[in-house]
Amino acid sequence: MISSLPTTFNLRRRKICISHVCLICHNGVESSFHALVRCDAAEAVWEESKFWELFASFRGGCITELFLFLREKLCKSDFELCCVIFWFIWYNRNQILHGGVTKEPSAILEDASLRRNEFCASLSSMEVKVLDYEVPRNYKWKPPEAGLLKLNIDAAVVKGYTYVGVGAVVRDHWGPIVAAVATRLVGSFGVFIAECLALREGLQFCLASNLEVNVVETDALNVASAVLSYSPLSEESSILADISLLLRRFRNASVHHIPPTR
Ligand SMILES: [Zn+2]
Repeated sequence: MISSLPTTFNLRRRKICISHVCLICHNGVESSFHALVRCDAAEAVWEESKFWELFASFRGGCITELFLFLREKLCKSDFELCCVIFWFIWYNRNQILHGGVTKEPSAILEDASLRRNEFCASLSSMEVKVLDYEVPRNYKWKPPEAGLLKLNIDAAVVKGYTYVGVGAVVRDHWGPIVAAVATRLVGSFGVFIAECLALREGLQFCLASNLEVNVVETDALNVASAVLSYSPLSEESSILADISLLLRRFRNASVHHIPPTR
């Protein structure tokens, strides 16, 4: 998962970055483990968290080992919270590097806790959309070609609710999740608009995470069609205009429709 994070170490491996030294603390190579755990900015967050003692007892040196360690030591909800904190640490790291608004460790922990609770609440209230066409029986998600990243997005709409759930998952050709985001958007939207919003959220997330996505997939045929035949006069034109602008920020990203997987 984390080997795909655009740390200076990984960028140097891809011959994009000259130096592999951490641009925040200038104290060693910015591996994924460094960026998410050992860097000054990351360590300050973990120090304030309830997980600090556990992190201090970790004797490994790579992020994969740490994930396995945490998965073994923590209950499901705490493990999930850790994953969300990782995401916020990475987001904050990008904010520091790109001159955005940065947050104090306490605020990051608070945001992570809130986001995890919101995510769990939205999961428990989500319903599966009613499909209006036959699902091909043998359809399976296919990984992108080697070296490419694929973004899959989806939305969940519950009738009568004043919000929708949207999610995005990025995977590489090996198949495991490289990065993912799920959030709740306030508003009573229909399925089509919700799927458009999911696409916009997914693209914004990839940009903020420096993930150069090549293929975007949605199971909403009307969304894929609307993106391809964007009309400035349509009801959803402002969202589609955002999507169009976002897509241009990626060098070779294209949007495709896929059948829903079950
Ligand atoms: Zn650092």
